[in-house]
Amino acid sequence: MCTLRNLLEKNKQWSERVKSSDHNFFIDTAGHQNPEYLWIGCSDSRVSATNIVDVQPGEMFVHRNIANIVLDTDPGCLSVIQYGVQVLKVKHIIVCGHYGCGGIKAVINDDVEGVISVWLQTVRDLYIENKDKINVFSNPDARADLLSEINVLKQVENIYKTEAVQKAYRSGQELYIHGWIYDLKTGTIKDLNICIAQ
Ligand SMILES: [Zn+2]
Repeated sequence: MCTLRNLLEKNKQWSERVKSSDHNFFIDTAGHQNPEYLWIGCSDSRVSATNIVDVQPGEMFVHRNIANIVLDTDPGCLSVIQYGVQVLKVKHIIVCGHYGCGGIKAVINDDVEGVISVWLQTVRDLYIENKDKINVFSNPDARADLLSEINVLKQVENIYKTEAVQKAYRSGQELYIHGWIYDLKTGTIKDLNICIAQ
């Protein structure tokens, strides 16, 4: 199956639908982007960034990876943060983890190998550091959910420490970093209320 006819057809219908409510939408947005938000989330197909906060193309700059991790050794993520902060001048960076995260569960259950295991090492470190608090729960899902929250807090801290963000704060740029968790079972987001602000 070399042509994904179903997706291409859906795309055609979607673009027609957008144009029917705003004739110049694509012409107006093609020349520039001016998003207010940078989203850093998990790659999980159920946590589709722009869908779950119901924003239009052009409103949100997005980076996603397994378990929404920000590493100071990952040029992909750091480039997105740098571009978002320095060039697009986003006002908000949102780290959004989610309950039921496969990456987090894999760490809790010690059930991961290969390159994904390497990628998840910092989450494993977090689990080890917070084991007493997390293992209060006997249910592995509850353990994973708490580790998901702890992981978001850590990534907010990691973003705060990046060169691009520190430079922005030094220059007085308005920038807020938020930590959120999405609940797959309800479709709702919980704000972890750890906003860092300039
Ligand atoms: Zn996930």
